[in-house]
Amino acid sequence: MATLDSRLSAIIGDRTAKVLATSFGMASVSDLLRHYPRRYVVRGELTDISTLLEGDEATVLAEIQKVDLRRINGRAILEVVLTDGSSKLWLTFFNQVWRQKELRVGRTGLFAGKVGLFNGKKQLSHPDYLLIPDGNNVDEAIADFAGKYLAVYPATAKMPSWKIAQCMDVALASLDEIPEYLPSSLLEENNYPELMSALKYIHQPETLEQVDSARERLTFDEALLLQLILAQRREELKSLTAVARTVREDGLVSQFESLLPFELTAGQREICQEIEADMQQPHPMHRLLQGEVGSGKTVVALRAMLAVVDSGGQAALLAPTEVLATQHFNTIQKLLGPLAHHGTLLGASEGTSVALLTGSLNAASRREALGKISSGAAGIVIGTHALLSQGVEFDDLGLVVIDEQHRFGVEQRDALRMKAKLPPHLLVMTATPIPRTVAMTIFGDLDISTLRQLPSGRIPIETHVIAVADKPHFLKRAWERIREEVDKGHQAYVVAPRIVGDEDEPESKISERDLAMAALMGDLLEEDQISGEGKMTAVEVLAPELAGGALKGLAVAVLHGRLSAQEKEITMQAFSDGKIDVLIATTVIEVGVDVPNASMMVIMDADRFGVSQLHQLRGRVGRGSIPGLCLLVSGAASDSSAMSRLQAVAGTLDGFELSRIDLDQRREGDVLGRAQSGTRSHLRLLRVLRDEALIEKAREVSAAFIKESPDLSSWPMLAHEVALLKSEEISTFLDKG
Ligand code: ADP
Ligand code: MG
Repeated sequence: MATLDSRLSAIIGDRTAKVLATSFGMASVSDLLRHYPRRYVVRGELTDISTLLEGDEATVLAEIQKVDLRRINGRAILEVVLTDGSSKLWLTFFNQVWRQKELRVGRTGLFAGKVGLFNGKKQLSHPDYLLIPDGNNVDEAIADFAGKYLAVYPATAKMPSWKIAQCMDVALASLDEIPEYLPSSLLEENNYPELMSALKYIHQPETLEQVDSARERLTFDEALLLQLILAQRREELKSLTAVARTVREDGLVSQFESLLPFELTAGQREICQEIEADMQQPHPMHRLLQGEVGSGKTVVALRAMLAVVDSGGQAALLAPTEVLATQHFNTIQKLLGPLAHHGTLLGASEGTSVALLTGSLNAASRREALGKISSGAAGIVIGTHALLSQGVEFDDLGLVVIDEQHRFGVEQRDALRMKAKLPPHLLVMTATPIPRTVAMTIFGDLDISTLRQLPSGRIPIETHVIAVADKPHFLKRAWERIREEVDKGHQAYVVAPRIVGDEDEPESKISERDLAMAALMGDLLEEDQISGEGKMTAVEVLAPELAGGALKGLAVAVLHGRLSAQEKEITMQAFSDGKIDVLIATTVIEVGVDVPNASMMVIMDADRFGVSQLHQLRGRVGRGSIPGLCLLVSGAASDSSAMSRLQAVAGTLDGFELSRIDLDQRREGDVLGRAQSGTRSHLRLLRVLRDEALIEKAREVSAAFIKESPDLSSWPMLAHEVALLKSEEISTFLDKG
């Protein structure tokens, strides 16, 4: 008898096992059984052929209506017409006359292949097929067909759906009773089938209720294992010791608050309190601060940094780009005013010093910065990845703030933490709003604060889509609008996906985490979707065109990743100072750039960017008290899904809403297609948005379990399952930071 860990080759033969291995990366019986059906066809209920699209890898259940044998130039062509009762599907076989014998009018079968269009007819060329045994040859009957529901699996040409079903049949039949790893009380409470039954139900259901209950149980398993890993990680973090940092009554924090030119919003105040309370603990804080673009996260972070300086320590702020690091440096110095200009830490209550460390500093400035960092003179240190490098030593690093989390990996986060004697407190900021369950899943080891409110007085930004496929002249109007803004004394951005010509890579690289997140959300945000084929506007091409044409006479400058850090900084500074009217840039301006006088943004080939990226980009305008305008230019067809994504972005300013819309726009088939196409991870069924309720439940259950038995030793089987998962891909994926 086999177990879940048995090699597939032991039960289904080497050849088939090999195909399963190359097609799907399967090695064990468990791998096979975790290959879940995409859907089910009901025996006797034919597939609706009219829904098939060209290019689909389809498996259809249909009846043979007509069979024709023709000879053309000595080649025999067997043409079979299938019907579902209303629509037809053509099958063609070349030089395979013998198939006439079995492909007889009136028989039904499963036919699989890639749907092609030939003379306007949908057809499958040389499809794989399995005929349903008709009364006479019952002995050929296959067990899969005993039931009413036939599972349709994600399949390949070499391994069609029914062959997979046959393998399932063999595997399920040769399997011993599988040990159950969920406590029976949990199964009873939720009315879940046992693991063995769940696997049978999902592959060979007798009723749709069985499918539902199996799916729910197996999805819950995924959610639970994930939450258990995260809960354990939180426990581990809690057991670490850190220096408690207490806000001093008459220290920098209070002076800073009295200097601020505005009132903190209620949300900011609340989160400041949360952070203060966290850092007073002798354990490191691990907090994620998420908030819409422009919600004022920087002030909150700065207050936390000052609290640490007040207690005699140092705080480091890690930014993803030099532009952003430099900008933070300037903003923070401005916000601190006189408080930033004390070269010594001795009188911490009177002020501190802020140091900037980036890769492009010259040797002398670098030496000076390093000195201030290691002596502790710089209470606040701002930098890029350069902060992580070896020569950087802190006197007493008490807090690490990471801006735009998704650009950093855990290794980098850790590299900085290693520079402290005890683990420092950690505050991670992100402007990519993510729904709670996504946050719980991806940032599950962090506590979460959300800043929902924007500072009052902001006029909401207006967004419009310019569909140049239909209305090319609208683009001209966009450039005129820029002129009007500049005439009013404002500034504008033009964003394009590429730097130079067609040969370069678009700059809108999506991070691993974004991809992982997208996958979890059932999203299709794939690199090739964003940077797909076709001509894309390039900054270095567009800039001279505009400067010599539509924007003639305006001060136009470019900004992108190929410029030196110094050039970038000079340009950014000039834009900030109002010396540049229009900045033509790639997504280097995406994160955090803050020029309140910028009132308009035109995004070229907007369909090349992800929904949340567009949302981030437009957050660069309308930051002051002037109304902001964002134009999304796209050549996509008006009825394309790309266009409806853009309309969605134009339709709402709520980033949380946008991430949901993003999901809603996907067809279920796409979602499943992606999730089941490979062996990506063990999260095959779980979809964070759809399965919100299950994830919440799993979160509660895991918390209760860990509380009762932190190492899960009360449930050895479950502990084993968690350990397995931990050791696999999923944990690497979570660790992508
Ligand atoms: P983000 O959350 O995108 O990082 P910032 O911290 O850059 O936002 O803040 C955006 C702008 O709003 C900055 O110019 C900042 O000074 C300003 N700001 C922050 N908090 C407030 C507030 N409570 N009232 C008014 N303006 C504020
Ligand atoms: Mg910011």
